[in-house]
Amino acid sequence: MQTPAILGDPARTRHMSDRRPAPLRRRLLAGAGAWPLAALAQDGDAPRERLLREIDLQLRASAAQTGVAGLSEPVRSALRAVPRERFVPAALRDHAFDDRPLPIGEGQTISQPTVVALMTELLAAQPAHRLLEVGTGSGYQAAVLAECVARVYSIEIVPALGARAAALLRELGYRNIELKIGDGYRGWPEAAPFDGIVVTAAPDHVPQPLIEQLKPGGRLVIPVGPQGAIQHLLLIRKDADGRAVTRRTIDVRFVPLTREW
Ligand code: SAH
Repeated sequence: MQTPAILGDPARTRHMSDRRPAPLRRRLLAGAGAWPLAALAQDGDAPRERLLREIDLQLRASAAQTGVAGLSEPVRSALRAVPRERFVPAALRDHAFDDRPLPIGEGQTISQPTVVALMTELLAAQPAHRLLEVGTGSGYQAAVLAECVARVYSIEIVPALGARAAALLRELGYRNIELKIGDGYRGWPEAAPFDGIVVTAAPDHVPQPLIEQLKPGGRLVIPVGPQGAIQHLLLIRKDADGRAVTRRTIDVRFVPLTREW
């Protein structure tokens, strides 16, 4: 397995990093631990709630480029429901609610929460949808999607990561996620067509099989660009007569989509 040149999948864009809350605000929130008992109980949720506010701000700030106005209620509930701390290595748990990608082993990363939220919003997921994810990684994005839709199919090329994600998702009780090990460039023809497809590793071109496996009206959200350079996060909509219409959103940085030959 090739070691990816970038470990910082998907790094915040410069635009987004300008919007981080002031350190002072962080210190004030952290200081809430000195409050009475009732407030202490709520304090356990403070990092997650702060992250949700930060994601909403980031999405609003990039609305002109993405067409996503902010964090929608279904995606907000999904982000609240999925315990991100379980998807990051134990040693990094204190950072589980930081808005940044974290290493998950095998040279791969769990994506930045804002990017997970943005990709989920771009899919315009509906409860009845069946979605495909390419790049299971930690399984976190799959779990967020599974909170929003009927069924999620997810493909991972690194067997050790796929096995770990499968065990965790089973333990957390996700029964509507199907995982497989393989090269997601080819999609999952047996389960196609999909209402939406999200790719969480970057190829240098849009894989034709993924376009083919979209339903008419379906959406493909995919970072595309050369390895080690800035990539464009694309929203591709397949219209009623099968034509693909592409919208370029923000710049991102993902690990490369590797191929199985
Ligand atoms: N969605 C993940 C983040 C994944 S990082 C999460 O929420 O944690 C990208 C993942 O894509 C890595 O685990 C990498 O091994 C995987 N990947 C790279 N090329 C792939 C391919 N051709 N098919 C399937 N998975 C691939």
